[in-house]
Amino acid sequence: MADNVNQAARKGFLVDTARCIGCRSCQVACKQWNKLDADKTANQGTFENPRDLTPALYNRIRFVESETGGTVNWQFVSERCMHCGEAGCMKVCPSPGALYRTKDGIVAYNKEKCISCKYCVSACPFNVPRYDSNDKVSKCHLCTDRVSGGMAPACSKACPTEALKFGNRNQLIAAAKAAKKTIYGLDSLGGLGVAYALEGPPEKYGLLANPQIPTAIFLWKDIIKPLGILGFWGSIGAMVLHYVTIGPKRIEEDVDNKGENHG
Ligand code: SF4
Ligand code: SF4
Ligand code: SF4
Repeated sequence: MADNVNQAARKGFLVDTARCIGCRSCQVACKQWNKLDADKTANQGTFENPRDLTPALYNRIRFVESETGGTVNWQFVSERCMHCGEAGCMKVCPSPGALYRTKDGIVAYNKEKCISCKYCVSACPFNVPRYDSNDKVSKCHLCTDRVSGGMAPACSKACPTEALKFGNRNQLIAAAKAAKKTIYGLDSLGGLGVAYALEGPPEKYGLLANPQIPTAIFLWKDIIKPLGILGFWGSIGAMVLHYVTIGPKRIEEDVDNKGENHG
């Protein structure tokens, strides 16, 4: 069951894996638009680079290698936040507005409201959220800034083969169905905002066959989180009470300044 998502207005991607040539223009365009620093990497015997998402890499192309008769074959799989219709990250986040749903159905975020708890990492079935040097959540925001201005996401615009089709989710899926494509992400997790057209089972592409939000998250959302919020406000109240009755606490000169700034 999707969170409060207006399915008719929902925007997203249809990733047509058969069209992807692994050029990684999408990776570069995302870095440029979002002014993200380069990631330092090392050759690890594969053309896939970088090998994982980072706080400064919101999308990447995963190279799925196989060998037939001495020839290496590749499948290129675009990897990023799936903008789930039922988003584990949003369910578990204790800070209102840190992760939020736009009117287009995008799962966006506000770093200023992120309290660095990292709960969203455990709640994401796709291991997507990363944390920047300020310990704030970092991931694909489906170019909310561009989309709200009527533009296509930077990665989609840069793709030379139309492997990243952006638009109204219902229409993208209807077109893929009409073309008799196997669609990944149709119904799972309230329908993924990033659906895939595949030519085989999801496992062949390294995609989870049945992605699910960990059950413990529902326990957190329905029981522990409300208690936690009570506890949080209780702590604030106790601090205010301490301040007005006893005065400010003096901090020892032992400030931890180990964070680096990558942008
Ligand atoms: S893929 Fe992960 S980070 Fe993205 S919306 Fe789904 S749960 Fe949240
Ligand atoms: S939609 Fe925007 S933020 Fe997301 S991967 Fe593409 S360019 Fe980056
Ligand atoms: S720009 Fe398009 S073709 Fe190139 S790697 Fe990205 S999705 Fe594939």
